[in-house]
Amino acid sequence: MTLRAPIDLASLIREVPDFPRPGINFKDITPLLAEPRAFRAATVGLSSPFAAQDVDVVVGIESRGFIFGASVAERLDAAFVPARKPKKLPWKRLSVEYQLEYGTDTLEMHEGAIQPGARVLVIDDLLATGGTSWAACELVRKQGGHILGCGFLIELSSLRGRQRLGDVPCHSLIEFA
Ligand code: AMP
Repeated sequence: MTLRAPIDLASLIREVPDFPRPGINFKDITPLLAEPRAFRAATVGLSSPFAAQDVDVVVGIESRGFIFGASVAERLDAAFVPARKPKKLPWKRLSVEYQLEYGTDTLEMHEGAIQPGARVLVIDDLLATGGTSWAACELVRKQGGHILGCGFLIELSSLRGRQRLGDVPCHSLIEFA
């Protein structure tokens, strides 16, 4: 039997200083996506805390949340619903505005994408201040869905995104200060 070394996911995140704006230390996930074992470990790690929770719907947040969310949905045998930037969805839309460091942004979901009482997991690549995932949770709650939790590949813990999400259970696989 060959034992394979565990994968260090953090070592596959590339830091890009001052992208897309001065002062932002961008976490580039593309080296991790380029390693099949690492990508699988990430989707397994994101799915497993919720495997016994009868997830009906996985919401993936545009755009990197789609990459992980779709795979997690498939693993959990759940529906996949995209939460998108404004005016991208073609059908009737619900919108939620949220606070950024400077200004506001909006996230949208198709009306009727979540059935009342649906058990929902929200997935994104990264938790920073928590505004984006809070907006995705609000879009679910507006339709009567029940948030089981949120899953992130990366958490920037110093930005206290968990606090923004209140009592929603959060799981992250890689933590940076
Ligand atoms: P927030 O709403 O502050 O939690 O920001 C999370 C969203 O912004 C996620 O969809 C991330 O993809 C993106 N994001 C925020 N900060 C970074 C960063 N340093 N590197 C890469 N993506 C980021």
